Amino acid sequence: MSDPTSIPTLTLNNGVTMPALGLGVFQSEPQETTAAVEAALATGYRHIDTAAGYGNEAQVGEGIRRSGLERADVFVETKVWVSDYGYEQTLHAFDKSATKLGLEQIDLLILHQPMPQHFERTVQAYGALETLTADGRVRAIGVSNFRPHHLTALLEQTQVVPAVNQVELHPYFTQPDVQAANAEHGILTQAWSPIGGITFYPGWGENRTSALADATIAAIAQAHGKSPAQVMLRWHLQQGRSAIPKSIKPSRIAENFAVTDFTLSDEELARLDALDTGRRGGPDPDAVDPSTWDLSIPEA
Ligand code: NDP
Repeated sequence: MSDPTSIPTLTLNNGVTMPALGLGVFQSEPQETTAAVEAALATGYRHIDTAAGYGNEAQVGEGIRRSGLERADVFVETKVWVSDYGYEQTLHAFDKSATKLGLEQIDLLILHQPMPQHFERTVQAYGALETLTADGRVRAIGVSNFRPHHLTALLEQTQVVPAVNQVELHPYFTQPDVQAANAEHGILTQAWSPIGGITFYPGWGENRTSALADATIAAIAQAHGKSPAQVMLRWHLQQGRSAIPKSIKPSRIAENFAVTDFTLSDEELARLDALDTGRRGGPDPDAVDPSTWDLSIPEA
């Protein structure tokens, strides 16, 4: 096992601390998820990122229980899906997620998407998160896929500044405007697809260029005797972001955790920053609507 304390700890805007590196489980099939979580916790990970919409919260909870770790030693993050937005609906969404995870308290609960066409429901959902954190059922709250104007609109209508904004962020899409807005408001930027998963996962469109196959990243990786995935994760950590790489393969889970024994130079960080294409791999948060995804979250 690697040393869990080798991974930097980030302090959120309400004082709660969170390991910067976590295991993501989007597209981890339920039957693969428990083993992936167990492998990650055995490796030294102490942070798991799931979502109601991933359909694998119960298996995440099972992996945590099988690890034998104390509850307080694992930081659990999950997300409320848009079909559960609304004050009462989102309170109930917490109950569904907590029951499936087998946890009384969730460390970080975030809204999975803004719902621009129904922003009042997004605000009501966030109001429920504020209640849940005031009641101690959730230790920190946040958002995901919020662009700067969504943050502005939310902050105008709510009290608690989100602790985290989880957004698509890899060398091909770095969203400097979102990172700046997050920093301005004291919101931690958390990278999804931190090694560019959305640039290569199958079935998501043709003519994609995989960040994992990038020549600049490969050259930097070779110079350090590390892999392209490790270089991208190191870039996130050195720039103060949280990153939640997904894998179901124990060797890659371990590889993605072994990122604290080398340092990228300022020049290398700048070369990675310069790979930004300004083109997102995922959907534009302003173009989505509940009807975009036909997904409702089952009862626990
Ligand atoms: P990642 O950038 O984490 O890439 C994951 C892909 O890379 C998988 O196909 C995985 O395959 C493969 N992989 C993992 N490690 C390595 C490695 N070392 N070398 C080569 N290939 C590797 O993409 P994700 O989109 O999954 O993002 C990570 C997490 O972010 C998600 O799991 C989820 O928790 C979150 N997320 C949040 C979203 C949101 O809207 N808030 C949207 C998308 C993701 P394999 O498993 O076979 O190893």
